[in-house]
Amino acid sequence: MPVTEKRDYYEVLGVGKTASADEIKKAYRTLALKHHPDRNPDHRKEAEEKFKELSEAYEVLSDAQKRSAYDQYGHAGVAGAFHEGGFQWSDFTHYQDVSDLFGGLEEILSQFGFGGGRGRGRREDTGAGADLGYRLDVELRDVLTGGERALTVHRPEVCATCRGEGAKPGTKRQTCPQCGGRGQVRVTQGFFMMATTCPRCRGEGVHVAHPCPACRGTGRTEAAQTIHVKIPPGIEDGVQLRLSGEGAAGVRGGRRGDLYVAISVRPHEFFQRHGHDVACDIPVTMMTAALGGEVEAPTLDGKARLKIPAGTQSGTILRLRGKGLPPLRGGGRGDQLARIIVEVPTHLTAPQRRVLEELAQISQDDHTPQVRAFLERMRRWFH
Ligand SMILES: [Zn+2]
Ligand SMILES: [Zn+2]
Repeated sequence: MPVTEKRDYYEVLGVGKTASADEIKKAYRTLALKHHPDRNPDHRKEAEEKFKELSEAYEVLSDAQKRSAYDQYGHAGVAGAFHEGGFQWSDFTHYQDVSDLFGGLEEILSQFGFGGGRGRGRREDTGAGADLGYRLDVELRDVLTGGERALTVHRPEVCATCRGEGAKPGTKRQTCPQCGGRGQVRVTQGFFMMATTCPRCRGEGVHVAHPCPACRGTGRTEAAQTIHVKIPPGIEDGVQLRLSGEGAAGVRGGRRGDLYVAISVRPHEFFQRHGHDVACDIPVTMMTAALGGEVEAPTLDGKARLKIPAGTQSGTILRLRGKGLPPLRGGGRGDQLARIIVEVPTHLTAPQRRVLEELAQISQDDHTPQVRAFLERMRRWFH
């Protein structure tokens, strides 16, 4: 994109120069919701630009240091914080503020290059909590309507007794005597001096003389938490949702890991999914197929009457428009494809048999054009 006149960040967020951090956050959240590309499918490109501009402004104004540089020197003052050529999504560090906004659905955000992984936008920190992975079973019904599902997660939490310090309440942790708090010690290996993780404090730089009894000095305890996972309508089987900051608590102030939730859509009693369409088999009697009629059929919305035209063949697919699933990005629902299976009666009684024999006698081959055409082809082939 060519370098055009950049708009003033305060103007972009519609706040005054003296706006508080809360006012800035509030303005950003309101505008981000309004201009989110998924909510503006008709003006997607513009919305993406707008959303990016908002996020750039927020990235600067929500950070006291960047904001002060911007106040003094304008856009030139913060250019160094971004990629050459300007702000990129990987320069954005406030994933949490956005993922809260959209229910933690970074899966959706990542579809337009946002939140693209933990590498570049995030800082590496050694005390970071682990990422956790869970599977969540949902029904086809959830795919139709979307909704919220509770998921119980067992994860390390900050120890409540020592507030994560690891030291017994009333005692203090001390600087590690072996490494002097650096977390690393030098060792000689052959001719080389190498820095290696301090064995005494395992790199943490502190020494806990009286460990907290609740967490045995680790600063963390395992706890079960109920997480509410938002299921967007149209979600695909096997999709992995990333819930930022819902993983294991970090060690001594380290950032939390992320929670990855793999969505598994349970098989349905009647329906198989084909993208946004759902398919099902509807058995009908030979008589209904020949004479026409109405049968009851299941749909995702409940029972429905399905019209069977006279002369319907086995394998015919009747399309019920709009009875399928919604696409993930919004828009109209897919269709239901009802495949008609014609069932021939078995265990005939004598009177039934007689009627069918009579029918066979008065049948003409133009009632069954497929049979006629087939016999014709056979005759030519063996001639
Ligand atoms: Zn503790
Ligand atoms: Zn040490």
